[in-house]
Amino acid sequence: MNIHEYQAKALLAEHGVAVPAGKAATTTEEATKIAKEIFDGGSGLVVVKAQIHAGGRGKGKTKNSGAKGVILCRSVEEATAAADSLLGDVLVTIQTGEAGQLVKTIYVTDGVDIESEFYLSILLDRTRSQHVVMASTEGGVEIEQVAEETPEKIIKEWIEPGLSLQPSQARRLAFALGLQGDALKSGVKLFMKLFDFYDKTDASMVEVNPLVLTPDQQVIALDAKVTFDENALYRHDDLAALRDESEENPLELEASKFGLNYIKLDGNVGCMVNGAGLAMATMDIIKLSGGEPANFLDVGGGANVETVKNGFRIILEDPNVKGILINIFGGIVRCDRVANGVLEAIKDPEIAKKVEQIPIIVRLQGTNAEEAKEIIDGSGLNVISAVLLKEAAEEVSKIFAA
Ligand code: GDP
Ligand code: MN
Repeated sequence: MNIHEYQAKALLAEHGVAVPAGKAATTTEEATKIAKEIFDGGSGLVVVKAQIHAGGRGKGKTKNSGAKGVILCRSVEEATAAADSLLGDVLVTIQTGEAGQLVKTIYVTDGVDIESEFYLSILLDRTRSQHVVMASTEGGVEIEQVAEETPEKIIKEWIEPGLSLQPSQARRLAFALGLQGDALKSGVKLFMKLFDFYDKTDASMVEVNPLVLTPDQQVIALDAKVTFDENALYRHDDLAALRDESEENPLELEASKFGLNYIKLDGNVGCMVNGAGLAMATMDIIKLSGGEPANFLDVGGGANVETVKNGFRIILEDPNVKGILINIFGGIVRCDRVANGVLEAIKDPEIAKKVEQIPIIVRLQGTNAEEAKEIIDGSGLNVISAVLLKEAAEEVSKIFAA
């Protein structure tokens, strides 16, 4: 689960991580008031930032006003104009795709003078089964680009399971960023606090880009992207409450309400599979037969009529879908029951209307697979059955040859 920058910064501040002061606003009037407070407090710079669940805001642009997603303001008037240009407009960044994201909230913060910009993140290194703290002198830049072109500029400290980031490791990171004296102390403190935050909140990623050094040698988190592990949210009611459903893909959200694991992709072959491993293999098969999967959908262990119906509904709401491949392994669930479930789901008037134009390939393997094939072949419905994955793949490629 992702949260907004303003929420992340409030949490970080509570955990003792240095962040610029700021407040969120949903109207221009509120934003003006906050900006005025900051200028009255003696600051010469206010930054107005669009709050969407996507990065790259600084280089992004809104569709109507053409404003950037991060605007530096030298006066209350400028802050008012910035707020006005962002609120209610749609911001497009390299992470949002062309559709962009509606800006409903902005963050008005005290502007910071920057001496240097760094990159810092904490996440799980799955290949080592260890948490890793990564830092780089190449802040404010796309980190993927740094990883690709100059990987030696990313310094990593892996955390021993059961331990925290050690002070010696935090010092090594700070040295590697070239921090000295007060800046070194400030950096070490921030790294230790940030790891503590990551650990205590069951975050799966904390990314600070840029982390900055100010002229008075303070190290501050200027941006913050935080993702929490959804499997651990049950023990953090306060964090779960920060969820902003309007930022999530509506189909993915609906699927999660039905207990389905759905991820929307860009292709046109919808797939409905039981088990995440089989779902991945099915996506590979679709690709190998020349297609592109429209989604990942794991209906879980018990594929009954209801789950199959819900699966169909969600897949069919994606207008790109030109065919559906159902690939279910009958281990505990018997294939004949799944076959009947699929046929019943297709008879649902709402689903029936939509599947008229769409070929459906059903591949059931496992217990009672042959009976299942007979049921489907004898149904008289527009459903193609397959027992072998190879057969299913051939049917998928026919959709694209047509
Ligand atoms: P992102 O583009 O979505 O990652 O948004 P960021 O919060 O990282 O802001 C983008 C860029 O705006 C930063 O890399 C900075 O260069 C600049 N910026 C943001 N806040 C401040 C600030 O307080 N002072 C100054 N001087 N620049 C800022
Ligand atoms: Mn950033």
